[in-house]
Amino acid sequence: MTTRPDFAAAVGQTPLLRLRFASEATGCEILARAEFMNPGGSVKDRTALGLLLDAEQRGALRPGGTIVEGTAGNTGIGLALLGASRGYRTIIVMPATQSREKIDALRVTGAEVRLVPAVPYKDPGHYAHQARALAAQMNAADPGSAWFADQFDNTANRDWHEATTGPQIWEETGGAVDGFVCACGTGGTLAGVGRALKARKGSVTIALADPAGSALASYVNTGELVASGNSISEGIGSSRITANFDGAPIDLAWSIPDDESVPLTHRLLHEEGWCVGGSSGVNVAGAIRLARSLGPGHTIVTVLCDAGTRYQAKLFNPAFLRAKDLPVPQWLDEAFPA
Ligand code: PMP
Repeated sequence: MTTRPDFAAAVGQTPLLRLRFASEATGCEILARAEFMNPGGSVKDRTALGLLLDAEQRGALRPGGTIVEGTAGNTGIGLALLGASRGYRTIIVMPATQSREKIDALRVTGAEVRLVPAVPYKDPGHYAHQARALAAQMNAADPGSAWFADQFDNTANRDWHEATTGPQIWEETGGAVDGFVCACGTGGTLAGVGRALKARKGSVTIALADPAGSALASYVNTGELVASGNSISEGIGSSRITANFDGAPIDLAWSIPDDESVPLTHRLLHEEGWCVGGSSGVNVAGAIRLARSLGPGHTIVTVLCDAGTRYQAKLFNPAFLRAKDLPVPQWLDEAFPA
């Protein structure tokens, strides 16, 4: 019998799934880590654990101290649940535009949630700056009482994926991996896994699937941060180069429109039973593009980041999808008769 003694030990115990229709459509083996099966429900449990272990090791977070983070939601959920299991208080600053499901999920973790207006990164009111300032203010009043996790620019995020997620993919594929692709929020997953795989096999192709409205694909392809359009996906895309993204070994990058990724998210649920969020659809769209670019017979790995239940009111809501000019599958329409 294998038992996991606590929350931290349950993080990252996720199966590698074969995605059937993506594999059949491309003649490749398209595999995905089921990160929605993490104990806090997303790939960001890994990030939260990597950041927290690093802080504990450095003495940056004292016993009973306060974790402070700015997050689109999932990292906050991971940090708050880890905090609950290890005796820390957690304060999360997040943009009010995030899904109601994620905000509520955070509140029930026991985290103190501070919603702030969604503004560009250069604005001092941006949630990341507000979180940093809050931790600094708490430390000024009581030195060592707060730790700002700083998931975007604290490279313990990328390093943890390089030390754990990447080697796990390598081992579970027996080294038979030809490509890895995913979207970037902080860039920790892509940079960390990319570095781990490239170190083991120089010929592996690392690709970025970037949602519309993000400037990262343009940065990789032209060196310029240019964004156009927008996306209903959450937690991915960026208008700046974070420390975690900087220097990531990326060979290919595409901007993926919602009308390509959202139908894939719907198909993953309806045809294969994988109920996942919008960023997973962007990742699977990227995996299909990478398969077409490498040709049949290759093994490609991506990530199913979190569960679709976190986005019920958007991604699986016919009225919301129509308002965004996105296709509504017939089964979804029938599930919610007007
Ligand atoms: N998908 C979702 C749903 C996320 O919340 C995030 C992180 N914000 C990502 C993907 C991207 O992961 P990373 O931060 O490692 O780039």
